[in-house]
Amino acid sequence: MSFYHKYEKLKQIPFSAKFHEVTSMQVESALTKDMLTTADYFALLSPAAESYLEDMARLAHQKTVQHFGWTMQLFLPLYVSDYCVNTCKYCSFSVDNVFPRRRLTLSEVEKEAKAITEMGIEHVLLLSGESRIHSSISYLKEIMTVLSKYFSSVGIEIQPLDTTEYEELVESGIDGLTVYQEVYDEEVYRELHTKGPKRNYRYRLDTPERGCKAGMRSVNIGALLGLDDWRKESFIAGLHADYLQTKYLETEIGVSFPRMRPHAGSYQPKTDVTDKNLVQAMLALRLFIPRAGITLSTRESEFLRNQLIPLGVTKMSAASSTEVGGYSEPDNTQSQFEISDDRSVAAIRKLLYSKGYQPVMKDWQIIGAED
Ligand code: SF4
Repeated sequence: MSFYHKYEKLKQIPFSAKFHEVTSMQVESALTKDMLTTADYFALLSPAAESYLEDMARLAHQKTVQHFGWTMQLFLPLYVSDYCVNTCKYCSFSVDNVFPRRRLTLSEVEKEAKAITEMGIEHVLLLSGESRIHSSISYLKEIMTVLSKYFSSVGIEIQPLDTTEYEELVESGIDGLTVYQEVYDEEVYRELHTKGPKRNYRYRLDTPERGCKAGMRSVNIGALLGLDDWRKESFIAGLHADYLQTKYLETEIGVSFPRMRPHAGSYQPKTDVTDKNLVQAMLALRLFIPRAGITLSTRESEFLRNQLIPLGVTKMSAASSTEVGGYSEPDNTQSQFEISDDRSVAAIRKLLYSKGYQPVMKDWQIIGAED
């Protein structure tokens, strides 16, 4: 039994028609409950709920403070390689896009680590394109001998792996796994992922669960909004998070709803996801799963990020670079996508303090790492 079996039932639902059938009364009923059912979550993602965003925001803020306090964890992405064997129509690193590819050496990784540390960041998310050759387990373990000297927490966002491979990485000190399904609709998934191992929908869908089984401290999932109907995609991502959180009580489950950003290639998002849509997706998720972390990246604008801080977000990136070696040698290579909010870590910290939040630079320590 895995989430795929649940997905097989979900895909029978005529989502668009069902979302439009939701009434104001169903939305109001959902807003009176402390524990939401799946049907309540569905109602809060419907067009009818758009008139209740202020009520949802107030409740989402209360729930977030109740479970996470006035805190915001800060982290940075660290790109170590842009080699990728997959064709994903929406990504600059797609194997079809021709540009000089690069993988950092250990001394280059160390330079990046120093540059990030100077910004005061202690949590990093190590990213690479998906290539078992260029981002091999042995390469990642070697990198960890460097990163564990600088950071208290290192997560990965790389190609999906088997459970035993994740166990090896956990042993090396990696404590978090991020893997986005990108799009939950299986047909759309096949249209967008035309070549490479990523075409295996089921293997990717089961990846977060393998991370939980391997002992990852935190597992972050999500859908890339814009690839298909955002209401349906948010709904299934929320159910996936709920499935993992219920089954793996010791793992911190988080969700992100990144939206499409400009990238190399001609793919245009299938659906336009407005700021209001994104807000609704995040608020509904917070009310459905109050204990889930919600990550907000620099893909979003300064204005929107400022507004979203009190509405359920628990983790933010700041001053991100999405290119390999981008902190110590910026502008040398292809970035994965353009960021929107380029404020410094210091500016984000100041903003958080001004809103009454405590920026958290460290809430975890890799065992054996220097303090
Ligand atoms: S989304 Fe990931 S797998 Fe797809 S091309 Fe980009 S880096 Fe490669």
